[in-house]
Amino acid sequence: MDTLTDISSYLNLLFATAADPGCPYSGDPVPVRTGSQILESILSLPAGAEIELRAPVFEIYGEETEVLLNEVRRKGCRRLIVDGALCDLAEELELDLLPGTPMSAVVDRLVVDPAMEKQIRTAIDHALLVGDSLMSVEIVGKCSKKEIARFRRSFGSKSKGLVYGDITPDFFMFNNPESACRTCGGIGTDKATHPDLLIPDPQRSLHDGCFVREAFSYCPDNWMGHLLYSLTGDYPFDLDTPWRELDDDIRQLILYGAEQRIRMRRPPDARAGNPRWLDRDVVWPGIATRIERLYRRYRQKDVAHSGMEAWLDRVMVDHECHECRGTRLRPTRMKFRVAGVDIHQMGEMHFDELRPFLDTIRLEGKGADAGNQVIREIAKRLDLLLGIGLDYLNFNRASGTLSGGEAQRIKLATELSKLQRRNHVIDLGPGGGRHGGEVVAAGPPEAIAACRASHTGRFLVPLLGGSARRA
Ligand SMILES: [Zn+2]
Repeated sequence: MDTLTDISSYLNLLFATAADPGCPYSGDPVPVRTGSQILESILSLPAGAEIELRAPVFEIYGEETEVLLNEVRRKGCRRLIVDGALCDLAEELELDLLPGTPMSAVVDRLVVDPAMEKQIRTAIDHALLVGDSLMSVEIVGKCSKKEIARFRRSFGSKSKGLVYGDITPDFFMFNNPESACRTCGGIGTDKATHPDLLIPDPQRSLHDGCFVREAFSYCPDNWMGHLLYSLTGDYPFDLDTPWRELDDDIRQLILYGAEQRIRMRRPPDARAGNPRWLDRDVVWPGIATRIERLYRRYRQKDVAHSGMEAWLDRVMVDHECHECRGTRLRPTRMKFRVAGVDIHQMGEMHFDELRPFLDTIRLEGKGADAGNQVIREIAKRLDLLLGIGLDYLNFNRASGTLSGGEAQRIKLATELSKLQRRNHVIDLGPGGGRHGGEVVAAGPPEAIAACRASHTGRFLVPLLGGSARRA
């Protein structure tokens, strides 16, 4: 394993053992509990208490709710609580959700009974699977108010009662499909529409076709035409103003959607349309958002279609992913912090910043010993990379593209790491090829490091720390 992969595995391990997780909704601290500890808490409730195991469900950026509902159905859940209201997933649901609506799947409903220990444990594992390692326990019946209050105090985060299950290093790996950002699939970039491509002629108005025809053209008779016209009733603009003269926030609204529902009205110039559309409060999705959804659906089908590609290329460009902001991981991962820093921020630090930062970390609690050991391993390897002049690199860049020279130096660092662990080393030199061939130094790594004539020894000194001195 090369030194960089080594360190990034240790970073994942550090976050799995010693990071403080925050609630995805409020940022409150969320406790981490093993499956057995969760079981123990549940069994501390009086026998006969009725409980529900719930798992939070997070929307996927720019994705239609139906995709998410199907995912929850596939994981074997029949009921979903949306903004406090219970929905039956066995029925066809038309959920028109505003961004950020809290949702949780009801994974199981159980009666607390020590004889049911096995079933409860299985249900806990299932809940953690549905909730991407997060879950909560809701007491729904046969329990005194006092008991409910005691349970809430002892279990889960303050506002949402959430706990994290066991966290393993792959929780922080973007090449693990379960951890990769669901919008970009762990690439960090995504295709997004670009306003300049969507609106090539900003002198024109919406009525006059300012959008390229492929993206949108206003027609008062169809659903989108009704919807856009209705938007002008709730927001201060009209369809005849040239695009360039619209306020910035109105342009954002037209492109990316409204935060409030709008009342559907019939445009005065409509000659057709469905009366059932009218007087409903509906969500305006935004023209750019609609195209981006279409693109995702197309990509999920995984069949190449050259006409579609050409069409999308006309209005879309590569863009930093909106969901993960280039971190490649699901947003819940960024709520885990070590010394106030998330794993992406740590990966952005240049090696010469990261090294002193490691020395400032003071871990507390049960993961502290293991975490400190991991920090020492990372520090040792960073010293090595700094010793060969790679101070300006950082992990996020290093895991992408490296120049030939950089790659070679990392290879050297890896070889040196191996040498450091050997009992006996023979250094042939003094140079390479025909300049070598003589035994320059032989003995344990410390002896090689101590030999002034050995080039290899010079690189071994920082690795061996205090135990090596150059003679
Ligand atoms: Zn992403």
